[in-house]
Amino acid sequence: VIRCRAAVAWAVGKPLSVEEVEVAPPKTGEVRIKIVATGICHTDEHVLKGFFPNVEFPVILGHEGAGIVESVGEGVTAVKPGDKVIPLCLPQCGECSFCLNPEANYCLKCHLSESQNLLPDKTTRFTCKGKQIHHFLWVSTFAEYTVVPEYAVAKIDPAAPLDKVCLLGCGFSTGYGAAINTAKVKPGSTCAIFGLGGVGLSVVMGCKAAGASRIIAVDINKDKFAKAKELGATDCISPHDCKKPIQEVLTEMTGQGVDYSFEAIGHAETMIAALASCNMNTGMCVMVGVLDSGSEISLDPMLLLTGRTWKGSVFGGWKSRDCIPKLVSSYLEKKFNSDLLITHTLPFAKVNEGFELLRAGK
Ligand code: NAD
Ligand code: ZN
Ligand code: ZN
Repeated sequence: VIRCRAAVAWAVGKPLSVEEVEVAPPKTGEVRIKIVATGICHTDEHVLKGFFPNVEFPVILGHEGAGIVESVGEGVTAVKPGDKVIPLCLPQCGECSFCLNPEANYCLKCHLSESQNLLPDKTTRFTCKGKQIHHFLWVSTFAEYTVVPEYAVAKIDPAAPLDKVCLLGCGFSTGYGAAINTAKVKPGSTCAIFGLGGVGLSVVMGCKAAGASRIIAVDINKDKFAKAKELGATDCISPHDCKKPIQEVLTEMTGQGVDYSFEAIGHAETMIAALASCNMNTGMCVMVGVLDSGSEISLDPMLLLTGRTWKGSVFGGWKSRDCIPKLVSSYLEKKFNSDLLITHTLPFAKVNEGFELLRAGK
């Protein structure tokens, strides 16, 4: 058993509490990882607000990390102690019908199908003050050590800087892949991205890499525009500056609407606005933002009748175990620069300050 620090979320709406926890050794088919760095994704914030489905408290959140394998349980062959790894918030079991389908990336062991509050044998490896603490998406990266199933970890190039490539564990891969894999953005096309957080800015990078000629970035926080331009946005708009609804503004700007629109916020209104912003016939809207659990969207079916496509995207369409090592290699070959997404680097004890910065749009 390892004693180390972890940020425990004891209850909805409470700040995280950095505590000493015990992390049990990995059982058969499991891997214990020393987490070196982790990002904060808005999905962690959804959980803290009580808006993410099927999460049980107390829980150790965090799902955008990178680390080094400390030990492995019986039967583990994919990784060994000392390997650099990224824990996978969307696993790839390799056996379910989606894992066997080359077109699919949603493994049926995903939290949304089978809750990941406990490891697959229905027990936890975390305890704190004598209480059992739940896992989150099987990765729980807000801990100095975590235990994950072998099929929820990807071995990466030993040259990778863990404090940078941790972003590939969620935000970067999600946004970049939404453009490249889910929308399959074509060269010369027009794109609109709603929301310029870590995910939306990564969509901008994906659209740029795919050769889009016009990339319109939309956010109510204008402080995000400089970074969006640096990453490839050609136009930046705040809906607050517009006299008309943003979908009308985008349609006028582009003639008939954009070829591809993306929602990376997680609000019903912006999902409908993004859908209405792509052209009525061949336009495609990709939903990346996570709506509060239990919420619903009502829409005018005419929006789809004329031909629009409305798609969701989870983890950017990547098959996680196969693709993350390749994305890390592309990072090392400087095919994209996800370092530009990093705004602040804090010591672990200041994790709550990190959430404050996220909430403040910094
Ligand atoms: P973030 O908080 O860093 O960024 C959200 C951005 O949206 C902010 O810049 C904010 O100013 C902007 N925004 C808020 N309201 C707006 C409005 N009405 N109009 C325009 N802009 C608005 O969040 P993030 O970490 O980038 O995550 C974005 C979303 O993606 C979240 O809902 C998160 O849960 C989701 N997500 C989904 C997946 C997936 O696999 N589908 C993976 C990761 C994150
Ligand atoms: Zn995330
Ligand atoms: Zn699977």
